[in-house]
Amino acid sequence: MDLSNKVAVVTGSARGIGRAISLKLAGAGADIVVNDIPSAAEALESTANEIRALKRKALAVTADVSSSPDVARLIDIAAKKMGSVDILVNNAGVTRDQIVMRMTDEDWDTVLNIDLKSAFLCARAALRHMIKRRWGRIVSIASVVGMMGNAGQANYAAAKAGIMGLTRSIAKEVGSRGITANAIAPGFIETKMTEQLDEKHRQILMQRIPLGSIGTPEDVAEAVAFLASEEAKYITGQVLGVDGGMSLG
Ligand code: NAP
Repeated sequence: MDLSNKVAVVTGSARGIGRAISLKLAGAGADIVVNDIPSAAEALESTANEIRALKRKALAVTADVSSSPDVARLIDIAAKKMGSVDILVNNAGVTRDQIVMRMTDEDWDTVLNIDLKSAFLCARAALRHMIKRRWGRIVSIASVVGMMGNAGQANYAAAKAGIMGLTRSIAKEVGSRGITANAIAPGFIETKMTEQLDEKHRQILMQRIPLGSIGTPEDVAEAVAFLASEEAKYITGQVLGVDGGMSLG
């Protein structure tokens, strides 16, 4: 896959899946705008340096992607300093797990804002640039939980299901302009988000994965790189499971 002369914006890319996606896209030739919240600035700069070591341009922009003004600034800086926004990867996400009866308004709003509203804000801002160039790729990171539901994650499951509806709607709105929108639904991937899981729950989860292992951030990054490429030009509005078969039930 050749992503030379493309500029990608990857949200939440200081670490975990976002970092792996940034490095994979850079390895395929893209220049990358990495983003994370201000408290992750140091880790974000180290992702940017890893991209530069691959001989690609990298720009680190701290911004809270659930904030409309922050997103406007992020996409504006990307377009002005890197020349365009060709690929948008909506990756930033958080969890605030709790059963519905105990979930606070704040737990609900935080997850819906960071995991779902952010994707709308980033897509709206990036589409203006993609439409001008009549080419664009939007890849959003959902979750198997958005399809299957999960006790204790109603906020997260609702946000991730929302990503799928948003993706299909964008695909219909801008397909005629050479822009595709797809989502990836990872299963259980080894990152900071999943490191708190105790051994007992890990084993229970493993029994539900036909391929018998936990996924890596690189497994997700491979799928993003494909959906961002020219080779995926006839694929839009889809949700691709990267879950070792977990969603088969
Ligand atoms: P992670 O290691 O926690 O990385 C997420 C990154 O997003 C962190 O660097 C985080 O920063 C950043 N972030 C949080 N709020 C943000 C905001 N408002 N603006 C910008 N950046 C923000 O998680 P991950 O496992 O790599 O997850 C990446 C994506 O994959 C998420 O959308 C997640 O829901 C999805 N996913 C993960 C799994 C899994 O098993 N790991 C499975 C399915 C889907 P701080 O942590 O410093 O706040």
